[in-house]
Amino acid sequence: MKADVLIIGAGIAGSALAYHLSDEGLHVVLLDKDYPGLGASGRSSGLLTVQHWNSLDLALSQASLRIYDNLVQEGNGGARRVGFLRVTSREEDVPRMKERAAMYRKEGLEAEFLEGRALTSGFPAISASDLVAGIFTPEDGYVDAYDYTSTLAAAAKKGGVVMTMGTRVKGIHTRSSVVEGVDTSGGRLSAEVVVVAAGAWSASLLTDEGVFLPLKPYRTQALVTAPIEGLPDLPMFHELPGGFYFRPDQDGLLLGDGTEQREADPRNYNTQADFALYSDIAAWISMRMPILKDLKFARGWAGLCVATPDRFPLVGPIEEVEGLYVLAGFNGLGVMRSPPLARSLSETLLGRKPSFNLASLHPGRFDQNVEFPIREGFTLV
Ligand SMILES: Cc1cc2nc3c(=O)[nH]c(=O)nc-3n(C[C@H](O)[C@H](O)[C@H](O)COP(=O)(O)OP(=O)(O)OC[C@H]3O[C@@H](n4cnc5c(N)ncnc54)[C@H](O)[C@@H]3O)c2cc1C
Repeated sequence: MKADVLIIGAGIAGSALAYHLSDEGLHVVLLDKDYPGLGASGRSSGLLTVQHWNSLDLALSQASLRIYDNLVQEGNGGARRVGFLRVTSREEDVPRMKERAAMYRKEGLEAEFLEGRALTSGFPAISASDLVAGIFTPEDGYVDAYDYTSTLAAAAKKGGVVMTMGTRVKGIHTRSSVVEGVDTSGGRLSAEVVVVAAGAWSASLLTDEGVFLPLKPYRTQALVTAPIEGLPDLPMFHELPGGFYFRPDQDGLLLGDGTEQREADPRNYNTQADFALYSDIAAWISMRMPILKDLKFARGWAGLCVATPDRFPLVGPIEEVEGLYVLAGFNGLGVMRSPPLARSLSETLLGRKPSFNLASLHPGRFDQNVEFPIREGFTLV
């Protein structure tokens, strides 16, 4: 049977798209070479914050948290809204931080600009002697991104989506520049519409079709500690300029970031955290929170994020091939960004007005062969 929509990739983006297309009377197939969440999504730290450099991301993060909270009845525990404290030790960041806090408040959000002792007054375990300013956004929270992804996929299945797991797409099948389906490890599947939501693997699937999209995979890492006795209440915390962050994780902490600003090969990358990251993070945390100087790590890992030239994702139709769409390139912010963008793409496919205008995210917005560096997505600027 020909699918109305076939989605390649059951990460958070593809699973969210499947979920939003479910219960609509369409024949939707969600296909993955592994299982939901085994790509970058299940390796994510799951932070969701409104502290962005643009209002689109700010709105996407809030929408993503709402989508997650609305899935509580599907079996997840809801987001943990512990707040987000971003700090800096650089004087030159202070005017920008003030400006950002004002921008968040203008958007109707709670956002405190903090200086001096006020910076960590709510969290006395954090040493702030070298810090100059920060912003605290108390309504931010984190999710278990593996749980988010698998809950979306399970809800999609419940709504009639056909789950084809453990099946690798080998190529997109087209005729006269019109999509006809995909060739997989299990044979050919026909489809009217194919959406590439294959994370770090998206670019190579498209290049094989002669479609060049500026998507560069890059490696980023996280570590989790062993349980910490007497751990005080802590927010999600991110420090400039070094870029290290932590958030509570059950009885311990999850810490990052270890982002490599060079292109990785998704067919062959190191899925383990670098040895150097353990020692760098141990040195940083024992300075920032001296009560944790004897911290023990339980495990670490690496996953692949995907950069684009303007650090915004590519969402929408690929003009060269009728019926082919892409939903990828989240620049390390896919848990915050992709569920509401997937919903908007589903609305477009259903012929409805999208909740988020996707025009600025059109995949064809760049010149062919555009050169660009990989830049950090999780920053103030
Ligand atoms: C360490 C780390 C920390 C992060 N922290 C955060 C954070 O705090 N907040 C945040 O918002 N984001 C964070 N991210 C980024 C976020 O995880 C990603 O942006 C997001 O998961 C991307 O989702 P995706 O669905 O596009 O890709 P993926 O989750 O990678 O899914 C792609 C799927 O496609 C499948 N696939 C690929 N090729 C094929 C094929 N040929 N055939 C069939 N299936 C295929 C893969 O198996 C995979 O399941 C982090 C990422 C990492 C690695």
